[in-house]
Amino acid sequence: MREDVNEKCAVVGIFGHEEASRLAYFSLHALQHRGQEAAGISASDGEKLRIIKKRGLVMQVFDEDALSTLRGSSAIGHTRYSTAGDDSILDAQPVFARYDLGEMAIAHNGNLTNAEEVRGRLIKKGAIFQTFMDTENLIHLIAKSEEDKLTPRIIDAVQKIEGAFSLVFLSRTKMFAMRDRFGFRPLSLGRLSNGGYIVASETCAFDLVGAEFVRDIEPGELLIFKEGREPKSIKIFEPTPKHCIFEYVYFARPDSLVFGQSVYQTRKNMGKELSKIKPVDADLVVPVPDGGVPSAIGYAQESGIPYEMGIMRNHYIGRTFIEPTQEMRDLKVKMKLSPMTDIIRGKRVVVVDDSIVRGTTSRRIIRMLKEAGASEVHMRVSSPPTTDPCYYGVDTPDKDKLIAANMTQDEICEYIEADSLAFLDEDSLLRSVNTKEDNYCTACFTGNYIV
Ligand code: AMP
Repeated sequence: MREDVNEKCAVVGIFGHEEASRLAYFSLHALQHRGQEAAGISASDGEKLRIIKKRGLVMQVFDEDALSTLRGSSAIGHTRYSTAGDDSILDAQPVFARYDLGEMAIAHNGNLTNAEEVRGRLIKKGAIFQTFMDTENLIHLIAKSEEDKLTPRIIDAVQKIEGAFSLVFLSRTKMFAMRDRFGFRPLSLGRLSNGGYIVASETCAFDLVGAEFVRDIEPGELLIFKEGREPKSIKIFEPTPKHCIFEYVYFARPDSLVFGQSVYQTRKNMGKELSKIKPVDADLVVPVPDGGVPSAIGYAQESGIPYEMGIMRNHYIGRTFIEPTQEMRDLKVKMKLSPMTDIIRGKRVVVVDDSIVRGTTSRRIIRMLKEAGASEVHMRVSSPPTTDPCYYGVDTPDKDKLIAANMTQDEICEYIEADSLAFLDEDSLLRSVNTKEDNYCTACFTGNYIV
């Protein structure tokens, strides 16, 4: 059974606004970078939950008609990022169910590490699953719980799951938001201008809908929204923060505040640190767009080497990473990025990217820059070598496909055909995220898994 279908995604919840589904829709637009595979919204008018979900981008899934059927003052939404082969529409979210207390919908960002075990137990007791998603476990756990109200059922259910989860639940009259005890994936609370509430994976959604950032949902906290009262907070687990450092490296949008810090500033810090520890004599600093831009700016500012947009990105091509075969991925990198020949020709270029995963992108880019006439290409990566897969919701491939797990840095340098290659080290990365405490998960760079 596939374990990897509940990957890094985005969730949003709107409570207390007559255009809830529309605000959820706009928010999902802002969160589109977290998942392009499928999108969905479920809304409640107090009596009935309605849901629309489909494969495709947010803009393709919803039109005016769709949004006007999603009536009511509360809504939750989801964008999904999946790995190759998971093409079932059943795997889109939110997941909706009718059960003895009524109706509920759940949207989930993260990966449950005991999903198979829990599912096995549920199936033994007669549960029938329709999807491969971890999220369906929660539906069953809530439906089967012996508690008589939804809130204690949710509490009961989340105590049986382990791993990474930022969740939003919708019932006919309430909305719930919850983060696992480690706070792996982000989830923030904002206030809408009419006094209603928004929760979203990233604060860039707040900016779009004109909401004010209030705070992060705490690790281990359940927030309950009910009409006519302030959200009620219940601490379900003792918080032991292990935030995903890869949110800062690659995943989150630069204009978001994630784990209380600006993603843009943090990425710029990474570039500055990289320049300090891995300087190089060169004529230009060129980012790999878009991921490498903030760290390249940091690298250029710290080193004094001029920053240039030496590579153009075609924004109408989707992410290369999600394509199923290597051949397709190669082709897509070519379609997506093209060199600015006049800028590159005859120059010693430092090219900055946020990460090297399989090595395909860097190899292509360096070839492209050399073909465009660069005299030297020095690869600088603003994160440590990605040596270990993520089990908490980031879609890294298996270890055998991670170039840094299988080659030394010299071998990688040779493989990607760079004149030199350097990565940020773990200490400098932690310095860049301004933390002295050990409250980040760095398993993708260290193999130190928490659960
Ligand atoms: P690769 O060709 O596998 O080395 O891919 C590295 C590129 O993919 C970098 O430019 C990153 O910006 C980007 N990247 C890193 N991690 C991910 C991810 N989990 N999903 C999609 N793209 C990623």
